[in-house]
Amino acid sequence: MGALASTSLRAEEDPLIAENDPVAKAVKYVEDATKVKESEGNRCDTCSLYTGKDGASQGGCQIFKGKQVKAAGWCASWAPQM
Ligand code: SF4
Repeated sequence: MGALASTSLRAEEDPLIAENDPVAKAVKYVEDATKVKESEGNRCDTCSLYTGKDGASQGGCQIFKGKQVKAAGWCASWAPQM
């Protein structure tokens, strides 16, 4: 988190969603996609709902308003980028 902490870009001010947040749990969100077989190699930074920047360690997700997700995370709502 440290490297991004000093930025003033809007989305990067949002807190990271917790795995035990009820909304996160509802879609089986995890911070490390490699820990769940269901992810099948997919992760947040290859998901069409992810709004983080290329190369960032975390970023926004359209299903978690006002929160960020880990680039290396995953959830059951993963959808391919077109
Ligand atoms: Fe990650 Fe996509 Fe799920 Fe959002 S919808 S948490 S970007 S896999």
